[in-house]
Amino acid sequence: ENLVNRIAAGEVVERPASALKELVENAIDARSRRIAVRLMGGGIDGIEVSDDGCGISRNELPIAFERHATSKLPDEAIEAVNTLGFRGEALPSIASVAQVRLESRVAGEDGWSISVDNGRATDPVPAAIPHGTRVRVTGLFERVPARRKFLRSARSEYAACLDLMRRLAMARPDVGFLLEHDGRTIFNLPPDQDRPTRVAALTDRDLKANSIAVDLERDGVVLGGIAGLPTFHRGIADHQYLFVNGRPVKDRLLTGAVRGAYADLLARDRHAVVALFLEVPPSEVDVNVHPAKTEVRFRDPQLVRGMIVSGLRQAIEREGH
Ligand code: ADP
Ligand code: MG
Repeated sequence: ENLVNRIAAGEVVERPASALKELVENAIDARSRRIAVRLMGGGIDGIEVSDDGCGISRNELPIAFERHATSKLPDEAIEAVNTLGFRGEALPSIASVAQVRLESRVAGEDGWSISVDNGRATDPVPAAIPHGTRVRVTGLFERVPARRKFLRSARSEYAACLDLMRRLAMARPDVGFLLEHDGRTIFNLPPDQDRPTRVAALTDRDLKANSIAVDLERDGVVLGGIAGLPTFHRGIADHQYLFVNGRPVKDRLLTGAVRGAYADLLARDRHAVVALFLEVPPSEVDVNVHPAKTEVRFRDPQLVRGMIVSGLRQAIEREGH
């Protein structure tokens, strides 16, 4: 069983950022209003995610670490799943390659804490904590040297965590996010921000005054978000954020479409700042084919590409650029 977990862990947990993604998605699925993330040494030394969500009751604590145990079941079709996680693989995978301490309390119940060390769990013990859940991951891959040696410097592991946190926080401006690294506050965003304010807080304060709102619909596909004016650009494409049905994605088709829209408006080595949110009927898209990946497959890629190119062009031209 433990070997199975470790093999699966390689798919779900490649580096601190992939463990962090799973933990924050769990906090979002728990309908948290505020999520706090504290990283040590790029997440290699420690990852802590605290939330004020629904919590896990005493009886379900040990089960949460069992493979394929999930409290989130898709209603009928697997595409109709509306939580971020539903495979029940993340916690057991992380706990099979690290030390995990999970404390949780359901409102109106007592709090409990459980520790799992490289797959071996203790019995829950009482813990006095506010309602919600706190998960702390340390010693990632310490007992799996073959994986540990693929980790990069704390600095680049931190960069991957920061990029992920920006994307998750942009996707959910209704949720408050705190990010700390080695005791330093990186951002602290209140819940219920509007989307342009949230995106600007995570990219560049000046984006709000230098961008246009994108909002169009075609054949059931909705494209929204904000796009920086061609006069507001960057030397690297580090601030292009794309989301499909609320999930951050990195996809060649989508980035290519954005490039196409700005093609003759920007110098060759310049990149626009954009945060675009596509809403596509679930039957038209296959998101997160693999839990650790951020790829999408569209049934009609040309429709999506065309919408982004012409939608952005029209919005930019309307602004008189
Ligand atoms: P999945 O998210 O696919 O269900 P996980 O392994 O990530 O699987 O989590 C297992 C279960 O643990 C979840 O289904 C959920 O019931 C519970 N859980 C995990 N994290 C949290 C959290 N932060 N708040 C409440 N419940 C959680
Ligand atoms: Mg999960």
